[in-house]
Amino acid sequence: MSQDDFWVLDGHNDMMLASRMQRRSFHERSDKGQIDLPRMREGNFQAGFFAVWPCFNRGMIKKRTKIWLSVVQDDRNQMMHIKKIDDFINAKKNGKIGVVLHFEGAGGIDKRFTMLDYYYKLGLRSLSLTWFDTNKFGTGARMFGSEKTRGLTELGVNLVKKAQSLGIGVDVSHLNVPSFWDVIENTKKPVYATHSNAYSVSAHRRNLKDDQIKAIQETHGTIGINFGGIFLNPIKPGKHDSKLGFDIIKRHIDHIVSISDINTVAMGSDFDGAIMPDCVKDCIKYPDLFAYLFENGYSNQDIKKIAHENWLRVLKANWK
Ligand SMILES: [Zn+2]
Repeated sequence: MSQDDFWVLDGHNDMMLASRMQRRSFHERSDKGQIDLPRMREGNFQAGFFAVWPCFNRGMIKKRTKIWLSVVQDDRNQMMHIKKIDDFINAKKNGKIGVVLHFEGAGGIDKRFTMLDYYYKLGLRSLSLTWFDTNKFGTGARMFGSEKTRGLTELGVNLVKKAQSLGIGVDVSHLNVPSFWDVIENTKKPVYATHSNAYSVSAHRRNLKDDQIKAIQETHGTIGINFGGIFLNPIKPGKHDSKLGFDIIKRHIDHIVSISDINTVAMGSDFDGAIMPDCVKDCIKYPDLFAYLFENGYSNQDIKKIAHENWLRVLKANWK
């Protein structure tokens, strides 16, 4: 086994927005944020879902996707836009970072789904139906206040069907519980959560309850572990704690594996979108995390699945 066997395909980051807000360039090493090209190289982080956010209306989607594409097309960034499963191998061969276009929230998609066709052609391959908001398609887990009982609308059910028929994967991270089950009921493809943890370990409403984890397993989907402190914290869910260690990340992984299997857990850092504990302060820390998992009972085969194989399997099934 070489270090390269554990290359990372990660389910969620917000670099596209964070780097602009922090006025840094992706190709230059920075002490701000958690992802840039030199640090991705150091952390063996070779591919990921790069989110477009926000997507609350048509104008935002248009503007942010244009920026997204211009970053990917800038040669200095050494990126390759992933549109089919073989592209991951080609990107690796050519020393490029593989980037998957993901919309976080679908509120701005039109009711006739003409934008979905358009953005599929432009390379959209993954979609979450909501953020923390409620839109015409579905209902997100709320940041504050009591949870809503509404799930997906009829239009939301049609969006799931339309996206999957095109070859755009459906992400259940951010959905509230009724919306989650509406997706499960209507899915024809493996369902995934790009950046969510285990509710039994940290009772935050962005995390997944045991029956939800099992339902994702039954679709042959997977769950990307979120490194955000507020989603990891087992003592005070919702409160950041910079001292949370690899043992807490492992507790989420252990729990998911114990009630489902090793195919149902992957990486979904939320880098550049959340505040991380020191142990995963930026993306150079993946090799240390994997070494910790290896020293504490996970085999090299297990770690390869967590690092990239599970995401490859799920995306392959969704993109066919
Ligand atoms: Zn998010």
